[in-house]
Amino acid sequence: MRAKVDKDSCISCGACVSICPEVFEFDDDGFAVAIEEEINEDDFEKTKSAIESCPTDAIFEIKEND
Ligand code: SF4
Repeated sequence: MRAKVDKDSCISCGACVSICPEVFEFDDDGFAVAIEEEINEDDFEKTKSAIESCPTDAIFEIKEND
């Protein structure tokens, strides 16, 4: 599982970064970005909480095809 943030929808509220800093951080422009690597299984639940908590639905879950 990976996550991606739609920068155009992000309002920089910080919810995802505070819920799951292992996956989300702010870039130099002040918008959230997700790590590019595969998310550690231990962080799945927090990642999903962050996705659900985003007020603008800017975060997407990317499921790998395997
Ligand atoms: S929760 Fe959504 S709007 Fe808030 S910083 Fe994260 S991606 Fe941006």
